[in-house]
Amino acid sequence: MAVPANSKPLSLILATPYVKEVLGPLLAILAKLDIAKSALFYYVVGIYSLKAYRHLRARGVVTTGKEVYTYVSQFVIRLILKLPSTRKKVEAQMGKAKLDVENKLVPKGPDVTRHLALPDEGKSIEWILEEMDKMDSELNGKTGVWKDGKLSGAVYHGGVDLQKIIVAAYDRYCVSNPLHPDVFPAIRKMEAEIVAMCLKLYHAQDGAGVMTSGGTESIVMSVKTYRDWARKVKGITEPEMIIPASAHAAFDKGAAYMGIKVHTLPVDPYTRKVDLKRVRRAINPNTILLVGSCINFPDGNQDDIAGLSELALKYKIGLHVDCCLGSFIVPFLEPAGLSGGDGKGKYKLAPFDFRLPGVTSISCDTHKYGFAPKGTSVLMYRNAELRAHQYYVNPSWTGGVYASPGLAGSRPGALIAGTWAVMQAIGSKGYLESCRSIVLTARIIADTIRSSIPELYVLGDPPASVVAFGSKHPNVNVLEVGDAMSKRGWHLNGLADPAAVHIAVTRLTVPVVDQFIADLKDAVKEAKLAPSGEGTMVALYGLGNSSAVGPEMVGELATAFLDSLYKA
Ligand SMILES: *Cc1c(COP(=O)(O)O)cnc(C)c1O
Repeated sequence: MAVPANSKPLSLILATPYVKEVLGPLLAILAKLDIAKSALFYYVVGIYSLKAYRHLRARGVVTTGKEVYTYVSQFVIRLILKLPSTRKKVEAQMGKAKLDVENKLVPKGPDVTRHLALPDEGKSIEWILEEMDKMDSELNGKTGVWKDGKLSGAVYHGGVDLQKIIVAAYDRYCVSNPLHPDVFPAIRKMEAEIVAMCLKLYHAQDGAGVMTSGGTESIVMSVKTYRDWARKVKGITEPEMIIPASAHAAFDKGAAYMGIKVHTLPVDPYTRKVDLKRVRRAINPNTILLVGSCINFPDGNQDDIAGLSELALKYKIGLHVDCCLGSFIVPFLEPAGLSGGDGKGKYKLAPFDFRLPGVTSISCDTHKYGFAPKGTSVLMYRNAELRAHQYYVNPSWTGGVYASPGLAGSRPGALIAGTWAVMQAIGSKGYLESCRSIVLTARIIADTIRSSIPELYVLGDPPASVVAFGSKHPNVNVLEVGDAMSKRGWHLNGLADPAAVHIAVTRLTVPVVDQFIADLKDAVKEAKLAPSGEGTMVALYGLGNSSAVGPEMVGELATAFLDSLYKA
């Protein structure tokens, strides 16, 4: 039996006859306990070494060093912020910033009518519509701001005819709830058909799917599915997943909800695709899921899904392809004759769907380029066995056997009817045509930036509908370009790391592309000639990563923003 090095005093005591006789048996037990304690100690050390080794291997020495640095500096900053003198200053600044956020969102003043309690008597439809008119005009007609098309994403179709179709479907099925398929059989059928149509678009053979309330729910549910699959099939209790830095925040959200460790790996600065070598190094026996986007939100590029598919097959793990944004654009690039690029080696689309054998699930947002009503998305799996890990079943609930596919219990059947109606109304030809006009518009924007705005560069080689641009000119801050675009009425997205601005082209942007290009050229000139060094985009996206205090303060402001959403 191995005696641990730290038990010497114990064996000395054991040598005396008295001890041998009286306390011997007791101490023998204690000695055994001691060994057990040491064993436990080495076990714990071993576990943590393995964890540290895997962490280092996944993220690399440099990133881990940076993480440690950030952790320590944020700790120090937090200490400094606790000093009464600094705290006062920071609190004053923060208070002002929070008030700014609130004032931008919440209408104030004695003229604003507020409805803070139920009316005694119910109101008429005329009164309700009038009150809505009033609210719209009180808020400076802001509700109509999207109609001029000067925005990135947000509203994907907005056509009057389509709106009529959605409202008709909604009108008809407004009380329906797919939780009761026996009461609303048509809704059940429509949901199954929407899923089937999407599976076909993404070339699934024996696929299965569900509808959710949006891209985020699709992603969060897929993360849950892989967690439960890995626990049941592989016995993994400390799951980890690997995502590209360009993946949507919904993956982090899902991992945070489900208690999964995330390795976020940087993308190649030129191609904007995740580095496959790093993905391979980050895989360990606890890995449950790889993620790739087609296309990603920040810069509209696609990851090397074929490469990820090979890794997923080799290590027998899941691969989720996020086509939330790609939705009804990427499956139509090939039939539109645009997947081969522009004929000059640019804008090519590589394989991304279930035809790649390692792809195990795909999320596709009907409420983006599917033009369906907001609150709908489709989550597809390679097979029904995998989908079953998404379900929640409680056979012994007091209220009866409870089974639901996703997070929600009751769901709006009207949205399913609206989605089904939109898909029928547009059809393959309609989606093909939208894909063509939207993607060609995005390519005009990217081409123009490349050929005639020398201060800017396009991030990667985006094959579909999103174009992001950064600055390669030392005197042009691209976030200031974004601010200058805001002054010209554009609602674009600012990106961090690297600083960039993006536009997701929609049906509404197609007719205003010339205006966009003219404004962009002007905005670059303005940012170059009169750099202000500040502005909304600079303040928000510039601060986020660049200083130790950044994330903490931005986090606090973001919380204040969410709070002010609920100020009546
Ligand atoms: C929009 C988007 C999502 C999330 O979708 P929501 O519908 O906003 O929840 C996920 N991934 C990508 C790439 C997206 O663009």
